[in-house]
Amino acid sequence: MKLVKFIYKKNTHWGIIEEEKIVLLKKPPYTSIKLTSKKIPLNKIKILPPANPSKIVLVGLNYKDHAKELNMPLPKEPIIFLKPPTSLIAHQENIIYPKGIKRLDYEAELAIVIKKKAKNVSVKEAKDYILGYTCLNDITARDLQKKDGQWTRAKSFDTFCPLGPCIVTDINPMNLKIQTFVNGVLKQDSSTSNIIFSPFYLVSFISKIMTLLPQDIISTGTPSFVGSLKRNDTVEVVIEKIGVLKNYVK
Ligand code: MG
Repeated sequence: MKLVKFIYKKNTHWGIIEEEKIVLLKKPPYTSIKLTSKKIPLNKIKILPPANPSKIVLVGLNYKDHAKELNMPLPKEPIIFLKPPTSLIAHQENIIYPKGIKRLDYEAELAIVIKKKAKNVSVKEAKDYILGYTCLNDITARDLQKKDGQWTRAKSFDTFCPLGPCIVTDINPMNLKIQTFVNGVLKQDSSTSNIIFSPFYLVSFISKIMTLLPQDIISTGTPSFVGSLKRNDTVEVVIEKIGVLKNYVK
């Protein structure tokens, strides 16, 4: 099921994508999914980020191919950091290249959307707390990341968290093709089968640190061949069975 949040005739709605149409939901999908009989053409809407999270938790180095590329040993536990919700943008919105930044990078990532409040959840229970999966682009000012040591400034500018276009429920997150294209050229090309700490492990691990709330986002790290963006580039994160998250650098 592909869940989408969007604006149609100035109102915000949730729906399910069915070919060229969207079937409207009675209410947001976080408690239960109830369909209406109303359908809207897909080309008449403006897509919104599919969550309004209290926090966005991201994981550093979590792909075997990326660790190999960086010549680093596999981590023994996840390294986590946060992006503020104010960094979120939707599919087809602009990433603003901040003044004075020397290197701006894309990072294609599979993101988990939390369904219900999670505290001290086990790895086995974690699946019940996940609404679904979407695409995330962990935009990073790499020069600031290196300069600061701390990652907060480098990761937190407004527009540095493209998310979407939809949430897909009922997929196996551990065997999906994940790619980045810049101006149509393939840059990252991997599979979530290279992930070190699984989505279920991450939900459990993070829920033992902080309470996860409905709509919170956990991003599972990026594969090898991270690279940079220039002004006027178009960047697409493509994940099998989810779709294309396309944004423009301005
Ligand atoms: Mg990342």
